Amino acid sequence: MNTTPPTHVELAIIGGGAAGLCAAIFSKQPATVLEGGSQAGRKILASGGGRCNILPTISSEKDFSSSSSLQIVKRILRTWPIAKQRIFFENDLGITLIEEPKTQKLFPQSQNARDVRDALFKEAAKVDASIKTGWKVAGIQTHELGFEITAENGDVIIADKIILAAGGQSVPTTGSDGSGFLLAKQLGHSILPPCPALVPLLTHDLRLQELAGMTLPVTWQAIDANKKKLAESQQPTAFLFTHQGFSGPAVLDASHWQIQSKATLTISWMGHTKAFWEEQLSTQKTGRGSRTLRSVLARHLPKRLAEALPLWRGLSPSQQLAQLDRESRKKLIESLTAFPLPISGNRGFEVAEATCGGIPLDEINPKSLESRIAPGLFFCGEVLDVHGRIGGFNFQWAWATGRLAGQSASR
Ligand SMILES: Cc1cc2nc3c(=O)[nH]c(=O)nc-3n(C[C@H](O)[C@H](O)[C@H](O)COP(=O)(O)OP(=O)(O)OC[C@H]3O[C@@H](n4cnc5c(N)ncnc54)[C@H](O)[C@@H]3O)c2cc1C
Repeated sequence: MNTTPPTHVELAIIGGGAAGLCAAIFSKQPATVLEGGSQAGRKILASGGGRCNILPTISSEKDFSSSSSLQIVKRILRTWPIAKQRIFFENDLGITLIEEPKTQKLFPQSQNARDVRDALFKEAAKVDASIKTGWKVAGIQTHELGFEITAENGDVIIADKIILAAGGQSVPTTGSDGSGFLLAKQLGHSILPPCPALVPLLTHDLRLQELAGMTLPVTWQAIDANKKKLAESQQPTAFLFTHQGFSGPAVLDASHWQIQSKATLTISWMGHTKAFWEEQLSTQKTGRGSRTLRSVLARHLPKRLAEALPLWRGLSPSQQLAQLDRESRKKLIESLTAFPLPISGNRGFEVAEATCGGIPLDEINPKSLESRIAPGLFFCGEVLDVHGRIGGFNFQWAWATGRLAGQSASR
């Protein structure tokens, strides 16, 4: 029988990912990071295809999604603006950042995510934070001194305060398997049902699968059952046809609207407007009527799509514009500017880059990220009901909330 009294620590941080490591650094005290995996920061290593898109160059609350008010998200992000985050990474951690001008994404100059993870480890060591790996938290309960934390193997730690930084549920092989939600629930929090976000979508439609490999810029809208627009893209981004369905930044960004809100995603190929296509398909100007649909569409769309789109509408690509009746023209323009994606599912948490849902922001104090339900418990990162679009926004959230939770818990 183990009669050793449980270890007592001032601050335990559950989860050694981006948010947990940042919390440890900014707590400026020897925090104990309890990491369930064999190493901390595994998702940082996988990020940006191993290059780590560490931050965007600019952001606003519109780049984020949450069931709570985006004003709260804005308020939290303001506590550590991007310019100051860049100074921290470049000056304090010594990671030179470079901008990818087309995408407004920031990467380490070395293009190596490991440099980011290791620099965070080094900085955490400066404040004597200790990272206990293989310490998977299975239960938390309140205790006269704060909290009693029990590991899967039965080890126990008593902590005055806790920061829950266990991430969401995306790519569980990196360690974030949704257990953070269960821990928050044990302490009285409600959980907004988690679902995959930033995830490729599937289709059964063979006509669309046939276009696999094609990529083109699009704009999109998410429309609910009452035809209300829930969201739309801010600018054209890449759309990719795959053998199973659809991917690319446009699809990843829109995916949670389909999954969580059951919205229909409509696509404008190349981002052209209705007015643009009305002009292109008009027969008002002399000589236009003899042009074929194929030739007009192929001027502004990839060839394979220009050939396929009329067929999907029951039209022949070799049909001349003059032969196109009003109704067919209207339907074709609809397919060009508001094509409803036939979606049969998604690739799930195994490949999703983020999690939708989690701990509602109205259960925490946005000034400190402390729980309104269990004082002494703080939250940061993806465990909260916030996720960003593709482009470094999820790390921006993880760094900002990690810092705020660390500072608040050390007060
Ligand atoms: C493949 C991929 C690529 C990505 N690329 C980018 C990118 O380039 N830019 C960007 O901004 N975002 C990117 N993201 C998203 C970003 O990585 C996450 O939003 C961010 O890492 C979340 O940080 P976090 O600390 O909240 O959670 P996580 O990084 O998931 O860390 C949580 C940690 O908690 C640990 N843990 C979980 N449960 C327990 C428990 N019960 N006990 C102890 N420890 C536990 C886990 O092992 C893990 O180490 C990417 C995500 C994926 C999956």
